[in-house]
Amino acid sequence: MNMYEKINQTVDSITEELVKIRRDFHKYAESGWFEMRTSSVIARKLTEMGVDEVLVGEQVCKKEERMGVPSEEALKKNYQRAVEQGGDPEFLPYTKGGMTGVIGIIKCGEGPTVAMRFDIDALGVIEDQDEGHRPAAEGFSSVNYGMMHACGHDAHASIGLGVAKTLLAIKEQLHGTIKLIFQPAEEGVRGAKSIVENGHLDGVDFCIGSHVSDLSKEGENVAVSPGSHGSLATTKYDVYFHGVSAHAAECPEAGKNVMLAVATTIMNLYSIPRHSGGATRINVGTVNAGSGRNVIADVAKMEIELRGETTQVNDYVVAYAKNVIEAAAKMHGCTYEMRVMGGAQSLTSDKAMIDHVRAAAEKVGLTVSAADSPQNGGSEDYSYMMTRVQEQGGIATFMRVHSKCSAPAHNRRFDLDEIAIPNGVKAFCATAYDIMKQM
Ligand SMILES: [Zn+2]
Repeated sequence: MNMYEKINQTVDSITEELVKIRRDFHKYAESGWFEMRTSSVIARKLTEMGVDEVLVGEQVCKKEERMGVPSEEALKKNYQRAVEQGGDPEFLPYTKGGMTGVIGIIKCGEGPTVAMRFDIDALGVIEDQDEGHRPAAEGFSSVNYGMMHACGHDAHASIGLGVAKTLLAIKEQLHGTIKLIFQPAEEGVRGAKSIVENGHLDGVDFCIGSHVSDLSKEGENVAVSPGSHGSLATTKYDVYFHGVSAHAAECPEAGKNVMLAVATTIMNLYSIPRHSGGATRINVGTVNAGSGRNVIADVAKMEIELRGETTQVNDYVVAYAKNVIEAAAKMHGCTYEMRVMGGAQSLTSDKAMIDHVRAAAEKVGLTVSAADSPQNGGSEDYSYMMTRVQEQGGIATFMRVHSKCSAPAHNRRFDLDEIAIPNGVKAFCATAYDIMKQM
């Protein structure tokens, strides 16, 4: 039988199951570093399918390289929740302390190594429970208040499991190694770097990562768009200022006022000059400072993010911002601390890998967008994986899997057309087969 037909038949026969899995992940949505139940379920399913090696816990993310990890207390509370919500008893203990994520490895002898990235985390969004919202009407809306799959990572996780099952069905025809990376904490761009730092992208020859994307941008029949464009490099910081409190009227000169350092910082961050290499973005999202009306403020925390059209432009903004913050602190006699809470590089897909995806997707009957570089606009930490692969001479691409969405991404009424699940599985599997079939 033609292998592309076999891929399609296999995917069609498991689609119902994959939709069920997506809805289960949707219902038990877990945001970054809390994906404990999700990871344990993925590890269980990969093991049962017969994936050769299933990596969990500290084997996946390098512990100290994880960014934006929640408090110990929140991690404990969510572990307990994951236990109560039916996390797999064998694999759940590995996720303690936020050691989430799973990597499945399928070994098919000599040949290239193909890596595929599926992110699995939910967002800090309160899901709409109105009957007009399908997940609520059909009983699979999030039971975890304040955590919601509002941009489709539930579908990504399900696509990854579908890819595992489908490639196992044609394993005899494949040559090389497949790495299925189920990445935690993509939101806030916090997780990918810690997987790269554990060496999982070293030696990878071909790499694909994807995201579901609203169909309206591409036209009715387009199933996938390989490539990337407009995805910004970014660095997220929590900035702390420490000063000295004093009576605001009696002895203001005895204080070191962090409020002034904050104000100086904000005005000057937004004054960073533009860069000829591309667009930049700067945002001060939150400021918390001070303790009382008549007290010179001695502690402040700011949440800021910086972005650039390329990694180089982002680096420029970061260096400038560091100077601004350091100078603002010094000006007012305060000390400061900057903690990196997340980061991503710009996405630069390789034409050769885009062409692989395009040709393969067409062989399984999917319509591929005419342009190679669909607009993105946000940031993606899959960029760390791509960059590592490219640095070592491998090739990589991003891919958008299209779906009619009921609301914009990150909205509390977001839902997707589940046709994106089989389409995504087919595109991934056909590409892997094309690369790994015997020449
Ligand atoms: Zn997303």
